[in-house]
This record gives sequence, structure tokens and C-alpha cells, in this order.
Amino acid sequence: MPDIIQLLPDSVANQIAAGEVIQRPASVVKELVENAIDAGSTHIQINLKDAGRTLIQISDNGCGMSDTDARMAFERHATSKIKAAKDLFAIRTMGFRGEALASIAAIADVELHTKQHDQELGTMIHINGSQVLKQEATNCPSGTNFLVKNLFFNVPARRKFLKSNAAELKHIIHEIQRVALANPDIAFSMINNQQPVYELGQDNIRKRIVALFGKHSIQKLIPVNTDTSLVKITGYIGQPKHARKTFGEQFFFVNKRFMRHPFFHKAVVQAYEKILPPDSIPSYFLFFEVKPENIDINIHPTKTEIKFEDESAIWQMIKATVRESLGKHNVVPSIDFDQAGSFDIPVAPKNADEVRPPEIQVDPTYNPFETDVVFTGTNPFTQQPKKTSKAQYWEKLYQDFNKKEHEDQLPEEQEDLFPEELEQSPNEIQHEESYSGKTFFQFKGKYILTPVKSGLMVIDQKRAHERILFENFMSVINSNQIISQKQLFPHTFDLNAADAQLLHSVLDDLRALGFDISGFGNNSFIINGTPGMLDNSSPEAIIESLLEDIKSSSTNLQEKAREKIAASLARASSITYGYVMKQEEINQLIDQLFACSTPNYSPTGKQVLTIMPIEHFEKLLK
Ligand code: ADP
Ligand code: MG
Repeated sequence: MPDIIQLLPDSVANQIAAGEVIQRPASVVKELVENAIDAGSTHIQINLKDAGRTLIQISDNGCGMSDTDARMAFERHATSKIKAAKDLFAIRTMGFRGEALASIAAIADVELHTKQHDQELGTMIHINGSQVLKQEATNCPSGTNFLVKNLFFNVPARRKFLKSNAAELKHIIHEIQRVALANPDIAFSMINNQQPVYELGQDNIRKRIVALFGKHSIQKLIPVNTDTSLVKITGYIGQPKHARKTFGEQFFFVNKRFMRHPFFHKAVVQAYEKILPPDSIPSYFLFFEVKPENIDINIHPTKTEIKFEDESAIWQMIKATVRESLGKHNVVPSIDFDQAGSFDIPVAPKNADEVRPPEIQVDPTYNPFETDVVFTGTNPFTQQPKKTSKAQYWEKLYQDFNKKEHEDQLPEEQEDLFPEELEQSPNEIQHEESYSGKTFFQFKGKYILTPVKSGLMVIDQKRAHERILFENFMSVINSNQIISQKQLFPHTFDLNAADAQLLHSVLDDLRALGFDISGFGNNSFIINGTPGMLDNSSPEAIIESLLEDIKSSSTNLQEKAREKIAASLARASSITYGYVMKQEEINQLIDQLFACSTPNYSPTGKQVLTIMPIEHFEKLLK
């Protein structure tokens, strides 16, 4: 048999290696920016077309390369950063594998212009799919300028696999956030399709965080500082009350290199124990400095996981340091998040001491037939739902109420009066269900209780208000009649680039709902008007919570976008638990709820109300 094993040609070997190093445009950006940092640059420019799909251009003012090095740089395992195996254990540069340029040149069209500072002329190289097409002397500025075009032109499967431009841009933004945080002393500018995304000057870390995550972010941060023989930890952590439900502002760096470290993440989260709202993640920007020989950055080809020699000692140190900083800033004393939304009706008291009479607020002057009641102040219910007359629902109520009055005089017979009612499941309650009276109690700042024929109706105040707002938003959308209320003092706010992208993508939908918002460059926005029905809420907080919702939802926003936005806005702008309602507000809420087409469920499908059957009480009292 003839021998069959042969060495792969370089172009094929490089393409295989590229599969691991270069997954998407963001990987190219990361590799080239890291090279620019290693070259000692103080200013790095990133110019993208179509989120890198068409062009990625990275130029720096670093040391540049000689003619020979410029050619060598594209060879596999060609690097100026390490020389011997022992160097692997003391790495101080971002790169060291010598794989990136060879990989990029194997799967794209690459042009390199580079000049060393002490040279008159620079050099230009054009490589396409690992083939050198041209190398010549050229007149160019000192530093290095890479142009990477048509990424994955010869790997159709990879190219097809790329996500939308918005999604690819988000990946690039995440890479830039990491390197920009790790290197605040380097200026970065980033442009996509001629639109500026970042313009970051040479800063300190505080200013860099503000530049990346918006002006509001710094008020939320607490400094961290610890120096021990094992590790130095500096940076900032977020205040618990500002913790979000989605990831996005959690950063660990070791020796200026971003790292993922789920184990250390747990140390931070544990330090926040009991002071964090449920399911939220604190933000942190923590920088570790350790001796390079005490870490191993070699364990993963894309190099975001790093092994520490003394992991458990550092773990303890992180937890203690974070805890100490929280303590210094008086946020550790336990905060009671008891009212956070669980729908749990206290059928029987678990502990007799807890029993307190409900707060009863009755307005004896209330007239349900009055149509033009005017409320002053910040009443969240001032907007009438649709064009249904209130009285229509109340009439029914009173018909039954009158009937019921007679029934009430016959208590012995009551058990047999409404047998089928007792069997009705709470889920089937329709708004035709009539009340036995117009008395509504607010209970624990969370529920509204009212007696009905078959028992006691319990309404979740927040979910009820969500339903009302949602149907209002939907009717605004369907009628195409946008009711936007001009803001007396327009709000302006800044977002980080990723959130700004997201907001831009839903601006049209928000306009259809009555938000008058426009961008004015640099990830800043101005709110000139809000939907008429949101008069008492902070529009900025609503937008922030909307973005959180979009980020954490797994479904595609494109379909039913407006409905989803309406649901999310309804949730963000509804009254909270703990909001003590005036009697007139309670009445209006009930009134509007039962004018809704689906009063039983919140827009996200949670149950708004339930009925505790009389039977239940009777059983309890037997
Ligand atoms: P690595 O960064 O792991 O050394 P690369 O393939 O990324 O491998 O780069 C190969 C070599 O090219 C680097 O070691 C460096 O000497 C040189 N190089 C790459 N980019 C630049 C740049 N922007 N400025 C100066 N030299 C560069
Ligand atoms: Mg490199």
C-alpha cells in the first residue's frame, strides 16, 4: 500500500485554525485591537461597514512593523511576543500565540499599511485567502492600518451563519467595552456605517465607565480597593438597588485582560447576600493585579478564561473586599424586599401575631354614576379606558346588589342560593360577575378585596393596572390616534452603545405608542413627549425597564413588536405594590379593569383576580 499521509498546505491549515480563532467580525476586531495595544498605541480607531461584514478597519499609532516583519506577521505561529516555552508562564502582552493574523488572512481579503516611527517609508501588503497578492513600499503615517474586507468570503457556511448586522454590532460593542475598560489610558474611536458609536478620550477608569455606560452609571457605583501580597483588587461595584435583571455590566480583568470567571462571580454575588432584589445581578468592574507567573491564561484559545494559582484564597478576598465596600457605603443593613410581587393570599394566618385588621378606606361621597369626576394630583388612573361608559358595568352591579339586599335578610337560606356559583373556578370569572356591594378594601398595599356573590374577590392591584394600561396602549395603536403629552421639561438621557442600538431599533414602535423620543448622536436621547396615560411616571425609568425586558426576552422582537412593547410599558408604568390608593383611585381601577376585554389576566398571562369561595370561610370556621 502506498503512504497516504501528507502535510496540509498552509492555506488549509490556516483556514482550520481560523475556525477556532475567528468566529465572527467581533473576533477580528478583538484580535486587531489587542495587537494595536501590544504595539504601544495611545489612539486606536475602528471603522466598520455593515457591522464588520463588509469592512473592518483598525488603525493605530503604535510601533509599526518593518518590511520583513510585516510579511512574517501573517505566518502561522509567528510572533514577536514570546521566544521560549518559559515565556508562556509570564505573559504581559494580550497576544502570544501568533495565530491571529494568519487566521484572518486565510478567510478574508486583508490589506496592511504599516510604518515604524523612525522610517521614511512604510510597507503595504495585500493578502487574500492566504495568498500574498502584493507587497510594496508606500507612503503612510507611522503606526499600523489593517483593512479586512469580505470576511468569510471563502467559508460560505460561516458567512451564512452570521447574525443580523445589529446582532454582530452588539458583539463588537461588547469586545470594545472590555478592552476600553481595561485600557482607559488609550483613546478609542469607533464608527459603523459612518455613524459614530464611541469617541473615548484618554481617561481614568471612572470617566471611562461613564463614557461607556452613561452619566447616570457613576452615581450608582461604590469604589473597591484592596492590596495584598497575593492580589491587588481595584475598581467599582454597583449599589444593590441599581442591580439589573440581565447581565451586561459585570467585568473582571486580570492584568488588563478581560476574563470570565463564574467562580469569582459567585464570590461577588455572595457578598451581596440578602441585600439584592430577587433575581438581580449586581454590576461590577473589578481589576485584579497578580504576578503573571501566578496565572495561566493558556487554557482557552479565545483566552477569556484564566486559571489562578490560589483560587480559593482570592475568592475569600473578593467576597470580603466587596462586603467591606458595601459596608463602608452603608448599604449592608438588611433591606426587606418582602413586597416583591408574589401572589400569595394569606388564607389562614401562619402566625397569629401577624393578624392585623385591614386598612379600610371608604369614601361615603363616592357616586359611581358620576361620569366627569376630576381628580387632582398624580392619579395614575386619570385616563379613561376606551369609550365604554362606566355606568354600563355598574348598573348590573346595582341590579344584583338590590336583589342581594333581600337575600341578605335570609341568612339561613344562603347556602342553597347560588350552588353553581360555588363550583365556578376563579379562572372562569367573567366581567359579568356581579358584585354584592361597592365596598373595596385595599389590603397590604397589594390587593383589593371586595365581597361578591360567591365569596371574596381578591384583585392584584399591580396586575390589574397593567391590564388596563395594556388595553389602553393597544387601543391607541389600533386606532392610530397617537396621544402624546408634551413634556414641560424634556428629559435627556444617555445610554451605553449597546442599549442605544436597541432603543433605536424600537423608536418607531414607541412613537406609535405616543412616545416622542429622538436620538441626538453619541447615544443620547431626548424625550419630548410621553403617552397621555403615563402622566405620573418617570419616562426614563420606563425606557430603561423596557430595554431590560427586550434584552431578557428570548423571543424575536420583530413579530408582534408593538404588542410586546405595550405589555412591557404597561408593566413598567403600572402602580407598584405598596402604593396606597385613595378610595376614588380604587374605584376607578376596578371600574376600568372590568371595562377591559380580558380583565382576568395581566398582559403577561398572570392571574389578576381570584375568588375565595364562601365555602372556604365556612370550612375554616368550622
Ligand atoms: P500575536 O499577537 O499572538 O503575536 P498575531 O498574529 O496577532 O500574533 O500578530 C503577529 C505579530 O505581528 C505580532 O507578534 C506583532 O509583532 C505583529 N503585529 C501585529 N499587529 C501589529 C500592530 N498593530 N502593530 C505592530 N505590530 C503588529
Ligand atoms: Mg495578536
